[in-house]
Amino acid sequence: MASSSMLGRVYLVGAGPGEPDLLTLRAFKLIQEADVVLYDNLVSKEIVALIPSGAELIFVGKSLNNHTMPQETINELLVRLAREGRSVLRLKGGDPFIFGRGGEEIETLSENGIQFEVVPGITAATGVAAYAGIPLTHRDHAQSCVFVTGHIKEGVVELDWTQLARPHQTVVVYMGSQGLQMICAQLIIHGLSAETPAAIVQQGTTLNQRVVVGTLQTLHEKAKAAELKAPTLIIVGGVVGLRAKLGWFNPIVG
Ligand code: SAH
Repeated sequence: MASSSMLGRVYLVGAGPGEPDLLTLRAFKLIQEADVVLYDNLVSKEIVALIPSGAELIFVGKSLNNHTMPQETINELLVRLAREGRSVLRLKGGDPFIFGRGGEEIETLSENGIQFEVVPGITAATGVAAYAGIPLTHRDHAQSCVFVTGHIKEGVVELDWTQLARPHQTVVVYMGSQGLQMICAQLIIHGLSAETPAAIVQQGTTLNQRVVVGTLQTLHEKAKAAELKAPTLIIVGGVVGLRAKLGWFNPIVG
């Protein structure tokens, strides 16, 4: 068995929501020094382009219903590459600990005695909200902000709706595009006004950013008409109304 000094190291690095200037300095430095890089489809192509040509690139992306590489295989690959003594950069969209399964990846590393470092990134919620002009906890509108996953499992979005449908709270939904209609309906059923402002943002922070604003009643239809492309993020709450005044980044006109 190799002694730990011969083992490589894994850097689990958040790449932020897409715009390369939103990388942390630590992420940028590690990208430049990378030996082998594992990345998935949430890492923007502009960021992938920053990886030096000498580094080995491994795409481990996943898309809905199309698991290019199972999570267990990614976990095992990280261990194997580190055991070869290499410096491994695992680049993940946003922040690795926010709906990124980063915890599972380093759990396997820890169990195998592999050294690792975690570099936080700007998560979609904060990056997208900033570029959409939606201050998530503006004091006049929200005293709390919750991040949830809206992923549909066996035909339903299973969330604690009573907890989400509270007044003076902003709800940010990751992976919610397929479940948008169900999410809006459940929030209304559990007590939020149908007039509550809500937005869905396509590819936030990038030049492809598009923001569709409506209410819990109207957002689904508006989003359908807009034919948005993944990834999209949903934001619900009074703060969404502030965009009309505070929106500053409008790369796509019309
Ligand atoms: N770890 C990531 C989230 C991974 S889950 C993070 O911290 O941001 C993937 C979901 O993130 C997508 O389905 C989408 O809801 C959201 N997302 C990521 N980047 C986004 C972007 N640029 N614009 C809109 N939504 C985004």
